[in-house]
Amino acid sequence: MTSSESPFNSTDLTPATWVVAAGRPAHEQGSPVNASVVMSSTFVSQGVPDGVAPAYMRAGTPAWEPLEELISGLERASEPATLFASGMGALSAALHLVRVGGTVVAPKHSYNTMLSLAESLEAQGRLRLECVDVADDEATARAIEGLSTGDMLWLETPTNPMLEICDLRALSAAAHERGALVVADNTLATPLAQRPLELGVDVVVHSLTKYFAGHSDLLMGAAVTSDPELQQRIRTHRTLHGAITNGWDAYLALRGARTMSLRVERAQENAAELARRLEADPRVAWVRHPSLASHPGHELAARQMTGFGSIVAWAPRGDDGTASRTTSDTFVSRVRLWTPATSLGGVESTIERRRRHGNEPTSVPEELIRLSVGVEEVDDLWRDLDQAFGG
Ligand SMILES: *Cc1c(COP(=O)(O)O)cnc(C)c1O
Repeated sequence: MTSSESPFNSTDLTPATWVVAAGRPAHEQGSPVNASVVMSSTFVSQGVPDGVAPAYMRAGTPAWEPLEELISGLERASEPATLFASGMGALSAALHLVRVGGTVVAPKHSYNTMLSLAESLEAQGRLRLECVDVADDEATARAIEGLSTGDMLWLETPTNPMLEICDLRALSAAAHERGALVVADNTLATPLAQRPLELGVDVVVHSLTKYFAGHSDLLMGAAVTSDPELQQRIRTHRTLHGAITNGWDAYLALRGARTMSLRVERAQENAAELARRLEADPRVAWVRHPSLASHPGHELAARQMTGFGSIVAWAPRGDDGTASRTTSDTFVSRVRLWTPATSLGGVESTIERRRRHGNEPTSVPEELIRLSVGVEEVDDLWRDLDQAFGG
């Protein structure tokens, strides 16, 4: 149901309560507790002007509204979010906000398929991509200096899978001085841990496939902004490209989001504990997690975020004491409880050597193992990692 039916708004409630309460039907005698599953491609629309009521599903359906309200409230946006068929659908709509021929400055360790998309658009002459090390403040500042009106600063913090942290407020302000738009991929942090719009970002994008839906059973994305004109451009892109999700998946993702706060909290605790144990283990070559004091972005993350996320990057040592691709592959082949699979943010813990993907940037170390820590009991997760070292 639409936001106008909710008896409260997101600023009245803590995020943990908002994800449970948002997007439900009004409390009327006999009304259902849950939003309805709407499965209809077309709607009765006799004599109604375009855009007043749902008419055809490509342009809009009540099926999306509860989740769009929930996401928008979490990000504290003044406009409803826009759902997409996948995270990449949302990222693509946001990337197309850059002017034709404009420059996009992006982290060199942005999500790999975002980089593939930007490279493909660059090859077509649609935009120019400039990758920077966002952990290097001076290099990033120099790249932003070169932007002008209609260009774009693309941010991701923490990055996936290198977990670099950048300063959303400072970088957004610098990009706005140049007249550039700022987009942030907030998939890894989730709005429960970080709200980029409040720090000056113009558009936030999400892969809802991950923590929002949370059960590794569907793909979905969202773009969120408080700027009505940007929201309209994003929605027009969705309609014209047909990048829409369906009523059933929207229901499943909403159902997943109800427990998001519990899941994210537990997964973050597990991840910080595993990162701590790995760092103390002589069989480990290196570990990265923003919760660790050894992480170069730890203090910034502690200021900017209310949680450190549940992705851990690390590498085991081989027999000769050094990390390598083969040692990491052997490690991954030995896990039993952890699922050797890509993707992240599900209730189940997953593990992969990230460079097995051909489009992963080559500056990501060959041996890097990415853990997506789930909600299992941490000692069970640890015992499985412990036996996977072998010997
Ligand atoms: C998975 C992911 C995406 C893409 O989302 P899909 O739903 O798989 O299309 C984008 N950004 C980040 C950070 C991701 O982890």
